[in-house]
Formats: sequence, structure tokens, C-alpha cells
Amino acid sequence: MKVIKMRKQFSHIVFFVQLSLCCLMSFGCSYRLQPLLPVSSLQQPTKPSASQMVQPTILTLPSQTPTEPSQEMQEDTARAPSSPAEIADSAVKSTPDSENWNIHLVNLHHPLPDDYLPDLAPVPVVFAIDQATTYYLDFRVIDALQEMLSSSAEASLPIYVTSAFRTRSYQQTLYENEVQYYRNQGYSEEEAIVLGGSYVAYPGTSEHQLGLAVDLVSPDHYWLDESFEQTMAFAWLTEHAMEYGFVLRYPKDKTELTGIAYEPWHYRYVGPNHALSMKELSLCLEEYLETLDLP
Ligand SMILES: [Zn+2]
Repeated sequence: MKVIKMRKQFSHIVFFVQLSLCCLMSFGCSYRLQPLLPVSSLQQPTKPSASQMVQPTILTLPSQTPTEPSQEMQEDTARAPSSPAEIADSAVKSTPDSENWNIHLVNLHHPLPDDYLPDLAPVPVVFAIDQATTYYLDFRVIDALQEMLSSSAEASLPIYVTSAFRTRSYQQTLYENEVQYYRNQGYSEEEAIVLGGSYVAYPGTSEHQLGLAVDLVSPDHYWLDESFEQTMAFAWLTEHAMEYGFVLRYPKDKTELTGIAYEPWHYRYVGPNHALSMKELSLCLEEYLETLDLP
């Protein structure tokens, strides 16, 4: 897992250089610099030494409901695990309903329809890490996000949005770039798909397409890696995000259930009541939904 972290840090160096050369790559939009800050004031990630490079842990594809293997399955043990594409494309695609829209589950087993488009509204520009970019979210989330980020700013811990709603085609680009990165590192096709998919969700299975998720950063840590958890901004979010209806969607100890690697920067709106319950019970959304008596 360390190499993933280091790889992420190294990727920021690459992006920083690319940005300096005004050569913005498609994946780089999450990494744009805060325009109000002088470049010299931003902490730069360091390149890992060779001794720090270790083999990453490869997440296994999560199974939705463990069941006794059928005879057919037992006879088919030589078959490779289903790919994310096979799983997502064979799953029932559903859209959020009007009543429980805020706890609508999106993951590999619960994809969105290809043409799903939430009713979007812009994130106020003062909360964007790149103020030249307009970020969008489901309009029902904007007020809560604004209140949360205003509160953190009042606590002298400014927090910014670096990624919000994504179209399916943009998610497809991010996913393919991520998988290709691991292919280029010499991983097998299967490993590259699993590793890539553990950080960038397969198209149709990303909460960013739902319009209810944001990636958050702080001025002293504007890149996306696990060390965001060491920032004061993360500490503030851990203590207060649920009050505004946001939860840390991919916790460190829930990767087997979510199918997504630990992402201390990714927050999902579920509403204050659900967020407070999930926090109190230490449940990720997959687990929490099991406790509800939903139709
Ligand atoms: Zn995210």
C-alpha cells in the first residue's frame, strides 16, 4: 500500500511540473493549485527513496453477498474473478428515489444508469481549490457544503473542493488513465484493473457521478494521498463533518466492504441524521443501509 501512497506523492511532482509547463493533463484537474496562494507557500511532496518502495496490497474485488457456492461455481473454480466491468455491467442500475436520495448507494454492485445526470448547481467559487474551475454538485447539497466549509474557515482551517460532480465520460478517462498507470508499472492486466479500480471507481460506480460527493483538501495539503489524515483540516472534518451531513465514505478499516482504498479526502453527503448515526455506529454506508428498514 505504501507504494501507492508514494506513487501518489510522486504523481503530484509530475503534475506540478506539468502544471508549471502549462501542460494540463486530463487527470490533473484535481491537482490544480490554489490560485490565491503563491506557489512558494505550498508544501511540496517529496519523491520516495528506493528503500521506501514496497509491493502494494492488492484489494480483492468485494462480493456483495457471501453465499454458498453453487455446484456450477465449484466446478468453475479455474475461472478468473469477474472484472469490475463484468460486475458493474451485469448489476441492476438504479437512480436515487425522491425520498431516500441522500443515502442512495453507488458502488461496483450498485451502478448508476449510463445517462444519469443529477440536478446540478455550482459550488461557490470561494470554496474551490482552483477558482478558475466551476465545480458542480446536486443542488440539494450546496447549502450544507457551504455551511461546513464556512465553519472550517471561521475556525482558521480553510478547506477547499478539488473534485465534485463528474460526468461518466470524465470518470471513464480517469479510470482508464489509472489502470494504464499500473500496466505501465509492469503489473498484470488483472492486477492493474484491481489496483486502478481501488482508487478510481469504474465508470458508473463512482459517487462523483451521483453529485453527492466531494474531494476536500487544505492549502497546506492540496494533493490527494493518505497523509491528508495528518492535517488539521482532516481532524476538523473528523469532528464536525457529520454535523453538516457529510461522512468519510471510504474509511481505512472498511476497504473490504467498500471496495475502494482508504480515501481521507472523499466525503459523501447523506444528511445530518444519517451522518451522525453512521459516525456513532462506526458504519460505512454499505453496512448502515443494512440496519435500515428500507423498501
Ligand atoms: Zn472522491
